[in-house]
Amino acid sequence: MKRNLIELYKLPAEVKFCKKCTVSNQRPRITFDEQGVCSACNFAEHKRQHIDWVTREAELVDLCNRFRKGNGEYDVIVPCSGGKDGGFVAHQLKYRYGMNPLAVTWAPLKATAIGRQNLDAFIASGFNHILGTPNPVVTKRLTHLAFKHLGDPFQPFIYGQTNFPLHTAVKHNVRLIVYGENGEVEYGGDMKNANKPTRDIQDHDKHYFSGIPPEFWKEHGVSLADLYPFMAPRYEQILDNQTEIHFFSYYKFWDPQENFYYCKENTGFMPNPERSQGTYSKYASLDDQIDGFHYYLSYIKFGIGRATSDAAHEIRDGKITREEGVALVKRYDHEFPTRYYKEFLEFCSITDAEVHEVIDSWRSDHIWKHEAGEWKLRHAVWRGYHA
Ligand SMILES: [Zn+2]
Repeated sequence: MKRNLIELYKLPAEVKFCKKCTVSNQRPRITFDEQGVCSACNFAEHKRQHIDWVTREAELVDLCNRFRKGNGEYDVIVPCSGGKDGGFVAHQLKYRYGMNPLAVTWAPLKATAIGRQNLDAFIASGFNHILGTPNPVVTKRLTHLAFKHLGDPFQPFIYGQTNFPLHTAVKHNVRLIVYGENGEVEYGGDMKNANKPTRDIQDHDKHYFSGIPPEFWKEHGVSLADLYPFMAPRYEQILDNQTEIHFFSYYKFWDPQENFYYCKENTGFMPNPERSQGTYSKYASLDDQIDGFHYYLSYIKFGIGRATSDAAHEIRDGKITREEGVALVKRYDHEFPTRYYKEFLEFCSITDAEVHEVIDSWRSDHIWKHEAGEWKLRHAVWRGYHA
C-alpha cells in the first residue's frame, strides 16, 4: 500500500530547509518566510526581542488571582508526565504563585524505569496527583491500529494526554488547565495562537489527533466503552465547567534546558545515563518505551527525525550552532530505535516484517529514493542543501 503524504498532510512537494535551524518545510503546518526562515525561528527571535516578560509575568499573576479559590479545592490542573516541563510548571504554580494544583498523568503506553522513577520523585517533591491508567488490552490494540493505519503508534497516548486533563477538570470543577509549551508555536506549526495564552479545544482534532479523533476507531471494531477513557468529555460538560486551557510558555520565557536544571534542583528529576536513540539528548521524553517509534516514523514520513527536532530548538535557544546541529542530525536522525524493539513487537503483537511493511508504506517519493537496494533521503540538511 502506498500513501499520498503530500495530500494527506498538505506538504509542499519541494523540500526546503530553514536557513537558521535544521527543520524542513515538511513539518505539518510550519511556514517559511521569503528569506527561507521557518516560523519557529522567527517566533524564537520575536520571543527574545519583542515580548516584555515582566508584563507577561504580571498577566500570569492576574490569571492565578482570577482562578485561585482559597477554599481548599484545586485551582488548576497541571498535566505532567514527571518530566522536566510539566514538573517545572506544577512546581512554579504551587511554590511561586501560591496555587493549589492537581497534577495529572496519563500513563505512558509502556513505561520506562527512568520515567517511573522521575514521576515518583516529582510526586514526592510535594504534589497531589492522579494517574489515568486505561485498560492495557485496549491500549495495545489501539497502538497496533494506530501504527498500522496512521503510521504513529503514539496516537493513543496523545488522545489520553489531551483528554484526560479535561475529564479531571470537569470531575473536580477545576476551570483552569495549564500546559507547558505551545508546541505549534515553539516548534513550528499553526501560528494563529502565537500571541494568545489559550488553546482552543476546537483545535484538538486538527493539531493533536491528525484529524482522527478516538471515536474514529469504532470503524475498526473498538467499542465506545473501550474508547471512552481516550475520548474528550462531552462538549457541553467542558463549556458548563467554563474550562480554559492556558500555556505557561505564553507567560514565562520557555527554555527546555532551563526547565531541566530547575527540575533537577526542585523535583528530583534525573536525566537518563544514556542518550535517547535517534538523538543526542538525555533529558527529554524519557518515560515511554514506544515513543522512539513515533519519532522514527516522523523521520520516515517527513524526513524529520528526533535529532532534527532537538537540534532545531537548541539552535533557536542559542545552545548550539547551526553547524553543530547539522552534524548531530547527520549522526543520529536515521537511527532505528532498537533498544525497545522487542518490547514494541510484543506490545503491538506485530512481526518484524509487518513493521517494515508499514514503515515502507509511509515513504513518499518526494522524500525517499530506493537506490542500490537501499532507501536514501533525497534531501538532507547535512548535504548542504540550501546551506
Ligand atoms: Zn528554523
